[in-house]
Amino acid sequence: MPQVNRILRGQTALVTGASSGIGRAIALAFGAAGAAVGVNYRSDRKAAERVVTEIVKHGEAAAFHADVTDERQVEAMFAAFLERFGTLDILVANAGIQRDAPIAEMTLADWRAVLDVNLTGQFLCARAAIRAFRARKQAPPPLRALGKIICISSVHEVIPWAYRVNYAASKGGVMLMMKSLAQEVAAEKIRVNSIAPGAIRTDINRAAWATPAALEALLELVPYGRIGEPEDVARAAVWLASDDSDYVTGTTLFVDGGMTLYPGFEGEG
Ligand code: NAD
Repeated sequence: MPQVNRILRGQTALVTGASSGIGRAIALAFGAAGAAVGVNYRSDRKAAERVVTEIVKHGEAAAFHADVTDERQVEAMFAAFLERFGTLDILVANAGIQRDAPIAEMTLADWRAVLDVNLTGQFLCARAAIRAFRARKQAPPPLRALGKIICISSVHEVIPWAYRVNYAASKGGVMLMMKSLAQEVAAEKIRVNSIAPGAIRTDINRAAWATPAALEALLELVPYGRIGEPEDVARAAVWLASDDSDYVTGTTLFVDGGMTLYPGFEGEG
């Protein structure tokens, strides 16, 4: 087992869309930090099982199927998680998709699919998590928060994105859903925050980094000069899920190599 700070020891966490990319990296990092991890997947059970196998080498984990857009499946997943692990400390609402198209060609199905997964899916999971936090009334000592929710947003919660109006609208929605929810439950010691990744090397944006030309164009947008890795986001998630960030709620942590510094403006003009 790698020598890591087991800062999440004794906690339980459910990560949606955890069979690949950022969700997978967060599940693995949470497991390495000592949490028992629920690995949610929609269709790739084998990939989810591989993540579980990795975590159980030194900890506890199980795979949970659910399409996060389906209310009944989400409720059933939380019930199964609570039956397996007894309680919930941390939700990471990570599942997300893109369906890019110029506006005149964007179908209602493209629009709805993205809003359904990226925004409604986060609402359904956050609501179920809040209910689970409230049901236990008090976090087991020495934990300070009753529960933590981390929404995986995007730099496109603030950066407009042509040809992806569905995606940008969904992430802008996540921003105010997160803040409104944080305001509503802060007095109960429930913390709600977002992570806004920039360009991270995963399947969702493969076209943006898979060729040298695409990568070069992408890096024009990243002052720090490299593409992000899923582990960059995972390390931030571990911190946001831990008591080390106990006074942080209602905020978006940008993990973007400076993409939101608008590097196009860095010249003197
Ligand atoms: P990814 O495609 O590897 O991961 C998305 C995951 O969500 C997949 O495992 C997929 O199966 C799952 N998923 C999709 N629909 C689902 C549903 N209905 N129910 C349950 N699971 C579902 O890509 P990723 O980059 O790891 O994306 C993870 C999150 O990070 C997304 O919310 C995405 O918008 C966000 N994000 C990614 C980047 C990036 O550069 N990669 C940047 C900003 C934000």
